Amino acid sequence: MTSAHRPESVPRVQSDAVNQRARIVLLGATGSIGRQACDVIERHPDRFQLVGAVVGRDADGLTRLVHRFGIKQSAVVDPMSDAELPAGCTAGADAAADVAAMDADVVCVAITGAAALRPALAAVDAGRLVAVATKEVLVMAGDLVRRRAAAGGSRIVPVDSEHSAIWQCLRGEAAESVSRIVLTASGGPFLHRDLHDFAGITAEQALNHPTWRMGPKVTTDSATMMNKGLEVVEAHFLFEVPYSKIGVVIHPTSLVHSYVEFVDGATKAQLGVPDMRVPIALALADGHRLPEVGPPLELTAVPSLEFIPLDDRRFPAVGVARRAGERGGVAPAVLNAANEVAVQSFLGGSCRFDQIVPAVAAVVDEAPELPQPSLDDILAADAWARAAAADRLGRVVPV
Ligand code: MG
Repeated sequence: MTSAHRPESVPRVQSDAVNQRARIVLLGATGSIGRQACDVIERHPDRFQLVGAVVGRDADGLTRLVHRFGIKQSAVVDPMSDAELPAGCTAGADAAADVAAMDADVVCVAITGAAALRPALAAVDAGRLVAVATKEVLVMAGDLVRRRAAAGGSRIVPVDSEHSAIWQCLRGEAAESVSRIVLTASGGPFLHRDLHDFAGITAEQALNHPTWRMGPKVTTDSATMMNKGLEVVEAHFLFEVPYSKIGVVIHPTSLVHSYVEFVDGATKAQLGVPDMRVPIALALADGHRLPEVGPPLELTAVPSLEFIPLDDRRFPAVGVARRAGERGGVAPAVLNAANEVAVQSFLGGSCRFDQIVPAVAAVVDEAPELPQPSLDDILAADAWARAAAADRLGRVVPV
């Protein structure tokens, strides 16, 4: 596993690309990914320049960033009425899309949820390199994003650790050489819990993730493994691989970030200490490796690498997401919206943990067939799915 004996395997980096300073626009600049992206940008001033930023609500956080980086153009999607905006900052969804399409090289999309869709599409239409961290962009609109990227000359690169791993494993490989890509999953807090006991899982237990500290929605998705289901859909659109060739395996220590199996029997895996700055830096630098981004992985200190097959009875979410992906059209957008409502219901105490995925599956089953949906089709399906899921779970959830 060491690379010391094969230095020739290190990819040759083109020097002109290295010397260029990429102008970065960050969408979701004050969130977890956005903050880590700011650290990467600040630590590599010879490579990156932050020229634009968008935040959801945090005008104060944006003001600090504007001063820290000298940003000229920025936007707040939904500011509080009394918020003070920094110079050069505008407000609203259209303003966010304008910043996403401003003159730049790379647009990193890390704004939470469906609000990322319009600005992400604006960046795609402007022909930017788009580094996608927000799952909803490809889950809700993967087909649309792909079509518009092809038309606008834009490329999409992943920020999520699993997809970054697949991206790294696929470099230099022909598409026909790939037999399967496999996403690893930590398995969450209920990997070993008695299956008969899933009905009694409380929100508090679901939010107690063994390794990661994340927001309640993502942590619950990690407990049901719907997050991995959404990642399967993302992987399909990112790498243009059919669903039949996308696998999921549980790997509790999260050191192997994902792997690819090839037709000749070879397998390539990407390993590393879990640190999001590594995939963020790789995406911002369009695949070029920067020095000392994260800590090195000391393999001799790793006791063992455990892999466990996915149990569909324990974690039906991956199969539900895969079927929604295979149906295509608006089905993945419906999956995403119904899941958001079901998770909110669970966290609010009005639905059981083991009812989340069946409720989502039932709404997906009722989703309309709509091949090659427009953005309006997708947003309409999203609203319909939220209402349908709320109806099913007996609770009105605001859209
Ligand atoms: Mg992930």
